[in-house]
Amino acid sequence: MYDITVIPGDGIGKEVMEATLLILDTLDLGLNYKEAYAGEECFKKVGTNLPDETIRDAKNSDATLFGAVTTVSSQKSAIVTLRKELDLYANLRPIKSYPGVNTLFDDLDFIIMRENTEGLYSGIEEETKEGATAKRVITRKASERICKFAFQYTKKTGRRKVTAVHKANVLKKTDGLFRDTFYMVAGEFEDIETDDLYVDATAMFFITKPHIFDVIVTTNLFGDILSDEGAGLVGGLGLLPSANIGENNGLFEPVHGSAPDIAGKNIANPSAMILSAVLMLDYLGENETARTVENALIKVLNEGKVVTPDLGGSASTMEMAREVINKIEGK
Ligand code: NAD
Repeated sequence: MYDITVIPGDGIGKEVMEATLLILDTLDLGLNYKEAYAGEECFKKVGTNLPDETIRDAKNSDATLFGAVTTVSSQKSAIVTLRKELDLYANLRPIKSYPGVNTLFDDLDFIIMRENTEGLYSGIEEETKEGATAKRVITRKASERICKFAFQYTKKTGRRKVTAVHKANVLKKTDGLFRDTFYMVAGEFEDIETDDLYVDATAMFFITKPHIFDVIVTTNLFGDILSDEGAGLVGGLGLLPSANIGENNGLFEPVHGSAPDIAGKNIANPSAMILSAVLMLDYLGENETARTVENALIKVLNEGKVVTPDLGGSASTMEMAREVINKIEGK
C-alpha cells in the first residue's frame, strides 16, 4: 500500500493525469491517492498557486505524481517552489527513442541529471535602476550531492560515462566550482568514465553526435534547456518524463507544461505522464510492474495505430490510455 499525492494542475496536466491513473488503477498495487491542488486554477480559487496543504501532502506521501501547471505571473513558480520545499535536488530526465516514433535518431538512450534546487532558478531577482538582475547561486553542497547522485545512478544502472556540462570558461567562479566538484566526486568512482563539455558545444553535439552521451550532470537552467532539446531528438515533449528525487521524497512529472494550445481537446499525448508513473514505480521498488507498463506503452507506440495526433495518429488521450491497458491485459 502506497500513499500517493496526485497534483493534476492545469490544462493538459489534468488530462494526462486522468489517463495515467486509469492505467495505474488496473494494476494490483494498492495505490492510495490523495488529490492536491496547484497552478492557475488553484490560484483563482484560493489565492495561491501552491497551498501549504499541497506541500504538506507531498511531503507526507510515499511519492507524488504531478501533471503540469500554468504559470501565474504574480506568483513564484509552483513546481520550482515544490521542488525546493521538498529538497528534490536531483531531476532525472531520460532521453530515449521508442520504436515506432518518428524521431531524429531511433537509438538514443541517455540521461540528463539536472541540479534542481539552485542555479539561476534560485528565485533571487531584484529590480535595479538600469533594469533587473537575477542571482545564480552555485554551492559546494548542492554541486557535490548532484554529482554523487549522478555517479551512484550510473554505477547502479550499469551505465559507463558521466559528462559534466557547464560554462566554466565564462562563469569561472560558479561553474568553475561545479566542474571542480564534479572531478572531486569522480575520484570516488574510478571505474566510471568522465569528461566535461561547455553547454554551448553540448547543444550542438545533441544534434550532430548525441550518441557520445550516457549520463549528463549539469546545473539547473542548462539542464532545463537541454532536456527540451533532448525531447526534440526523440519525438517531442509528449514523450519526455522526469523524476525529481531527494533524500525523503520523490515527485514524478512530464517535462511538458499545461499546453494551453491543445488543452480541453483530449488530444494530449499521455506518454510523458505514463512514463513518469513508470519512474515512480521504479522509485517505489515496483520494478516488475514498471516494466509491464513501459512495455505495454512501447507496444502501442510501435504499432502506431492508437496514438495521439502529435505522433501522427488520430486517437484521443483516453483512447491511447485504454490501448495501453489492452496491451497490459494481453489483448
Ligand atoms: P508546453 O510544454 O505546455 O507546450 C509546448 C508545445 O508542446 C505546445 O505546442 C504543446 O501543444 C506541445 N505539447 C506539450 N505537451 C504535449 C503533449 N503531452 N502532447 C502533445 N503536445 C504537447 O510549454 P509552453 O507552451 O511553453 O507553456 C505552457 C504553460 O505551461 C506556461 O504557463 C508554462 O509556464 C507552463 N509550464 C509548466 C511546466 C510544469 O508544470 N512543470 C513546465 C513547462 C511549462
